[in-house]
Amino acid sequence: MAVTDLIYFDNNATTRPLPEVVDAMGDIQREAYANPSSVHRFGQAARHRVESARQEVAELIGASPKEIIFTSGGTESINLAVRGTLNHRPNRRHLLTTTVEHSAVHSLMEQLAVEGWWLDRVGVDRQGRLDVQQWADKLSDETALASIIHANNETGVLFDVAEIAGLTARRGVPLHVDAVQSAGKVPIDVSAWPVQLLSLSGHKFHGPKGCGALFVRRRTRMEPIIRGGAQERRLRGGTENVAGIVGMGVAARHAASRVQENQGHIGGLRDALEQGLTARVPFARVNGGEAPRIHNTSNISFENLEAEAILLLLSEAGICASSGAACSSGSLEPSHVLKAMDLPESLAHGAIRFSLSRFNTQEEVDQAVEVIPDLLSRLTSLSRS
Ligand code: PLP
Repeated sequence: MAVTDLIYFDNNATTRPLPEVVDAMGDIQREAYANPSSVHRFGQAARHRVESARQEVAELIGASPKEIIFTSGGTESINLAVRGTLNHRPNRRHLLTTTVEHSAVHSLMEQLAVEGWWLDRVGVDRQGRLDVQQWADKLSDETALASIIHANNETGVLFDVAEIAGLTARRGVPLHVDAVQSAGKVPIDVSAWPVQLLSLSGHKFHGPKGCGALFVRRRTRMEPIIRGGAQERRLRGGTENVAGIVGMGVAARHAASRVQENQGHIGGLRDALEQGLTARVPFARVNGGEAPRIHNTSNISFENLEAEAILLLLSEAGICASSGAACSSGSLEPSHVLKAMDLPESLAHGAIRFSLSRFNTQEEVDQAVEVIPDLLSRLTSLSRS
């Protein structure tokens, strides 16, 4: 099946790079491949491209370019944010996060707990909404750092960062926001949020994979986790990924100019997909459907079915989607996010994430709504026989 025939509903995994991004990256590899640290004119031309991209990424989130550190992606940004700040707060041993973080934060925090940090994870209700009172109660003078996801990668549930950041700042605790699934999709303005650190990743908003950024508010004391040269204000050693950075800058510029338009277009498609499927499949349940959600994500449980089997049938029909399930010892375990939402097993095992982008169309949604119920009926009769 040609890639153009696929219905790609897996945009939270990664997005298609914009043609403008691919062109800009190709130009760099062909014609501006110098090292930005070189003093010759060729090197300085590359430096100029990196600094323009920094400006574009900064504008996407209302930051100053000096507050942007380029990294190899969301995961590295998160590791830098968390580990990079902890060394400066040796007398505080408490960390605060939530039960529904992406594995980049989730497993890092688990590792820090093994290393002797005292970790609290605040829970969510059945719709995936954070227990804000518990968050406030858990903050203490011992808390070295708090970290919270903005838009959940599995359910799309949005946390109210403005409120949480206010509470956290009042206790004098620095806050890191994992905005990997929200940056470039919804407006973000770090000048209005009292957060110290915020992670984003180019490939989630039509930029390249392998390039991310960390916003580090002025005067936040940090150390690098990758030591080497003096690049990125000494916070991230290593020759810059110039093509990736430039590609991310182009993607950030396009995302910023289309935020409202995309929200309307993609949100309309997501709602049509959700309504179409829930109307035609009586055993379908939308996870997090009553919580505030980002406009592109729909997580739907098909009761008593297995996500893996559904995904295989969808794939045969040319529809790309995902599940939050992880394969552990040969069986598919529902994700920690759905478990944290206390979903019964019969729903958690059959949860599928559909995540849309500006490249999706009404025709694709119509086709999916047409095809998916029949596939599910086939599976239901198979599992009964
Ligand atoms: N945080 C969230 C919420 C994500 O969805 C992802 C990727 O899926 C990451 C962090 C990690 O980003 P990257 O793939 O750029 O390392």
